[in-house]
Amino acid sequence: MNEGRLIVLTGPSGVGKGTLLKHLCQRHPDLQVSVSLTTRAPRPGEIPGQSYIFVNREEFQAAIQANELLEWAEYAGNYYGTPRRPVEQALQAGKLVILEIEVVGARQIRQNFPQAHLIFIAPPTWETLEQRLRQRGQDSESAMQKRLARAKEELQAAPEFDVQVVNDDLEQAIHALEVHLGLRDRQNINNSEF
Ligand code: ADP
Ligand code: 5GP
Repeated sequence: MNEGRLIVLTGPSGVGKGTLLKHLCQRHPDLQVSVSLTTRAPRPGEIPGQSYIFVNREEFQAAIQANELLEWAEYAGNYYGTPRRPVEQALQAGKLVILEIEVVGARQIRQNFPQAHLIFIAPPTWETLEQRLRQRGQDSESAMQKRLARAKEELQAAPEFDVQVVNDDLEQAIHALEVHLGLRDRQNINNSEF
């Protein structure tokens, strides 16, 4: 069977995972990005079914009970999880499937899919991370504080993953990801540790 590949992008909120993924998908339309379930309220501009599948807590619990999630985690007061079926179908179709998830969920994937490739996106400095979270301007101060506290823990987890990519210069980070995903040859890659 032509099995695809499962890739996880993890790292703290605000580090730029979504931004990197958006650029990667524009350049490589064949990539399949998983759309997660969340109990978080939509942000302005987020499209239901495209950014996330927005559900209430009862619906999320029902999905867990029915074993419909590949992994799930609580994050800053909300639940997030990866729907199982679309990922399994895309892998069976031989696709390169990307999950953009936080660290607790990434560990579950590591456990259940030893063949998955897990990439940790790191900020160049703590100050840059805080600045990016604030400049995104989508979170209340209390949500921001929860995300910053969680980010401190997540940064400690970086060495658990297969590779670390520092998202300092955006183009360089995209290039490094393309190399790790096998989407381009390794040339002048100088971004695999922090
Ligand atoms: P995440 O998905 O990890 O929560 P986002 O992709 O939403 O993070 O990025 C958080 C903020 O940082 C956004 O305002 C985004 O434009 C900005 N950002 C992302 N990558 C870079 C980069 N390499 N340089 C400068 N700003 C960046
Ligand atoms: P945000 O609220 O900023 O969209 O997402 C908060 C965090 O949840 C981010 O680190 C994001 O990567 C993560 N996340 C998004 N979807 C999922 C998911 O399906 N599972 C897990 N475990 N984390 C997710």
